[in-house]
Amino acid sequence: MTVVTGVSCPICGCLCDDIEVDVTDNRVISVKNACAIGEAKFLNYAQHRATTPLIKNGDSLIEASLEAAIQRSAEILVNSKYPIIYGWSNASCEAIKKGIALAEDVGGVIDNTSTICHGPSIMSIQDLGISSCTLGQLRHRADLVIYWGSNPWSAHPRHIERYTVFSEGRFQNSEWNDYVTKSSSIQSQKRLRRASDLISKTGDSTISEVSHLPLTYPKMGRKLIVVDVRRTRSTDVADYFLQVEPGKDFELLQALRLLIKYDELEVEEVAGVPVKLLEDFADILIGCDFGIIFFGLGLTMSSGKNRNIDAALSLVRDLNQRTKFLIMPMRGHFNVTGANTVSTWQTGYPYAVDFSQGYPYYNPGETSVIDILRRGESDASLIVASDPVAHFPKTAIQHLVKNPLIVVDPLETPTSLMADVFIPSAFVGIEVEGTAYRMDHVPLPLKKVVDPPKGILSDEEILDKIIQRVHVLQEGGI
Ligand code: SF4
Repeated sequence: MTVVTGVSCPICGCLCDDIEVDVTDNRVISVKNACAIGEAKFLNYAQHRATTPLIKNGDSLIEASLEAAIQRSAEILVNSKYPIIYGWSNASCEAIKKGIALAEDVGGVIDNTSTICHGPSIMSIQDLGISSCTLGQLRHRADLVIYWGSNPWSAHPRHIERYTVFSEGRFQNSEWNDYVTKSSSIQSQKRLRRASDLISKTGDSTISEVSHLPLTYPKMGRKLIVVDVRRTRSTDVADYFLQVEPGKDFELLQALRLLIKYDELEVEEVAGVPVKLLEDFADILIGCDFGIIFFGLGLTMSSGKNRNIDAALSLVRDLNQRTKFLIMPMRGHFNVTGANTVSTWQTGYPYAVDFSQGYPYYNPGETSVIDILRRGESDASLIVASDPVAHFPKTAIQHLVKNPLIVVDPLETPTSLMADVFIPSAFVGIEVEGTAYRMDHVPLPLKKVVDPPKGILSDEEILDKIIQRVHVLQEGGI
């Protein structure tokens, strides 16, 4: 058995780099330190994987050699006038760099999945700038942590444990023991309520809802506040849950901006929150020594989109006149931050980059893939490490599959089943090495822990071969 330590988990933007993997006979047999999602990927990644390239022949996909699949892919891209090249957040930075070179060579558009997640956040950060830091700094110093429109307990399971309130920092202690006590008390209350409901059979328990600390509770140590439209698993571990009416985050943020400047609000409530409570909230924001807002898709993809983020960034800017405050998007896929970073250093723009005029051009809404697909403008697509057929709007998918479609992915997906050419690739971070960027823009190495199946190449190697074939065809070869 071989033990591989310091492995980075290729799942979510936390990119936990303390994973330990036991390997026997080229198989992962056990995983330490990962959350349930990370462990499941390391133990089960090989199930349902594809190992043979496929090319469409009539209505069916037939097995083909890698060379034939590369040749067909290059022909599709060279014969296309306006191809889109999309995906990347589950690929390595090295592969993304190749993808950008290919987009430039064929005069296409290269876009990544931030176009359907934190794209509005990026646009807002470009407009206003951002006060941010690394997760390591937060772990050691943050005494107030706010998750706004995000549910880390379910989506980034180790975020709270590794980087915020459950972590032991140099200047801040872990709140783990407090939360374990509070959590058992919440569970007991829930059990009591269920028992009471069963006895009365009315379903109308007289035992009160799970109580929360008043906002003014003089708690020592770190505080955790969740702002969201509904209760989530993260709200159960929070010191306070502030419930905002759906689609009203912008109003709430602007109201807080007024309150921290000591302006009066001449209304009873904002976004469903009583103003008295908001005043307490504003006091807590001002009263911390080192605060951080982590925001998720609940803020960036709800009504208001980038305007919500404008308001959140402005709130943090205002707070920095009174104390130290920072803000960070909760990035989803393990290398979506890398996709933005590599795209920015190679082209000047973080996503939705159009090379059709011979130089990089960026205008989300015009050059973002969903908009291109919905307008029916593209005439071919290359999808790398992504599954748009499972996630894009119907009209976009209809145009995507109407034109030649190339898919590079380790797994059979709804998109690969619709492809004209499907090239299976190796899992980066498990079968091949690479580099990825954590959500705080810290680059980390992705390790190889097992060998890929025979003949399976990395995304980077496959793209390199496609680029070489494209060059041959563009120079008049066959
Ligand atoms: Fe992997 Fe994310 Fe879980 Fe960390 S929190 S182990 S990166 S899935």
